[in-house]
Amino acid sequence: MQKISTRVATLAQSQTLAMSQKSNELKAQGVDVINLSVGEPDFNTPAHIKAAAVRAIGDNFSFYTPVPGYLSLRKSIAAKLSRENGLIYAPEQIVVGNGAKQALCNVILATVNPGDEVVIPTPAWVSYVEMVKLAEGRVVEVPTGIADDFKVTPAQLEGAMNERTRAVLLCSPSNPTGSVYSAAELQALVDVIARYPDVLVIADEIYEHINYTHKPFTSLGSFPELAGRVVIINGVSKAYAMTGWRIGYCAAPVEIAKAVTKLQGQYTSGASSIAQKAAEAAYDASQDCVEEMRRAFERRRDLVVRLAREIPGLKVNEPQGAFYLFPEVSAYIGKRAGERLIENSSDLAMYLLEEAHVATVDGAAFCAPGYIRLSYATSDENIAEAMRRIAAALGRLV
Ligand code: PMP
Ligand code: GLU
Repeated sequence: MQKISTRVATLAQSQTLAMSQKSNELKAQGVDVINLSVGEPDFNTPAHIKAAAVRAIGDNFSFYTPVPGYLSLRKSIAAKLSRENGLIYAPEQIVVGNGAKQALCNVILATVNPGDEVVIPTPAWVSYVEMVKLAEGRVVEVPTGIADDFKVTPAQLEGAMNERTRAVLLCSPSNPTGSVYSAAELQALVDVIARYPDVLVIADEIYEHINYTHKPFTSLGSFPELAGRVVIINGVSKAYAMTGWRIGYCAAPVEIAKAVTKLQGQYTSGASSIAQKAAEAAYDASQDCVEEMRRAFERRRDLVVRLAREIPGLKVNEPQGAFYLFPEVSAYIGKRAGERLIENSSDLAMYLLEEAHVATVDGAAFCAPGYIRLSYATSDENIAEAMRRIAAALGRLV
C-alpha cells in the first residue's frame, strides 16, 4: 500500500460528486434513479456557443493557451463586468481557470497562509472548507439556519472577525440554500468588513444570473469601501449551461491576478483553447439564452417549493436564486422504516436514494447536518415524480 500525503488523506471527498456518481452507478444497474444531487443545468449548451467551439477547432485553436487565458476572452469578461455589473476591470486583473472551482482554489492558495482565518457563513458549498484546508488556513464557520433565511447578520460577521482574519468568503445567490442577499443586506456586511482593512472579500457570484428576486444583481465588487480587496469568482458553467467546458475566472486586484497566474502556470497551464473560444462567444453574443433558462428555473423553483410544502415534516424557505432547495429534515431524525433507523440527515439521504430512488445530498456536506439538498435543475416531470417518491418514502417513516 502506498502512503498518501496527509494533505490529501485528510481532504474530504466532494459529496456532491460522490452522490452523483452513486446515482449513476445505480442507474447503470437498471435502477430508475432521479438525480437531484449534483447541481448542474440540464439544458444543452446553446447552439451558437457550440458553433463557436467548432469554428475554433477549424481555425486551429489547438496550441497551449496563455496561462491567464486568451486576451480576447479576458476582454470579453471585462466587457461583461462593465455591461452587467458596472465594474471596471483591466484584462490583467482577470485570470481564467478550469472552472470557477479552480479559479476559487487558485485565489485561496495564493492568498491564505497557514493559520490564517477564512470566515465562511454556513451552509456553504462543499469545496470551500476543503480548499481552505488545502491552504492550511483555518475555517471560521458562521452558522445560519432556515429561520433567518440562511443569511448571516452583520453582528454574526463581526463576531467571527479578528486580527487573524485573512478573508471572508460570500456566496450569493447561495449554493446550497438559494438565498440572495439584497443590496442593503450586502451594504450592512460591507460596513463590518470595512473596519478590517486587511481582509480580502472573496465573492462567489457563479449563480448571478439564476436569480428570482426580479431586482438587479448587486456584485460585491461594486462597494467603494472594499476597493482593492475584492475578488470576484464567476464563470460560464451555470449561466450558459456549460458545466463540462470547465471555464471560470477570478477578477481580482492585479497583484492577486499575477500570483494566481504564477500558481496556475506551474500546475495546470491555461484552460482549454476550444472551451475558451466557446466562453468568449457566450459572453459576446445575445444573452437571451440566459434569461430563457432562468425563467425555466424559476418555474421549477415554484413547483418544487409547492410540492415540498405539501410534505408535513419538511421545513423549506423560498429560495430566491440558484437551483437548490435546502429543506430542514429534523422531523424525520430518530424515525424508522422497519429495521432501518434514520439517525441523521446522511442516513436520510441514503434512505431516499435506496428506497425512493431519488439522489439528494446530505446537508452535512455543506456544514449543515439536519438538512438535505435537492437540485431542481431537471425537468418538471422529474421534479414532480421525485417529490412524489420522497413524500411516499418519508410517509413510511414512523
Ligand atoms: N461555486 C459554487 C457555489 C458552485 O456551486 C460551483 C459549482 N460546482 C462552483 C463554484 C464551481 O463551478 P465550475 O463548474 O465553474 O467549476
Ligand atoms: N456546484 C455543483 C454542486 O454543488 C457541482 C458539483 C461540484 O462541483 O461540487 O453540486
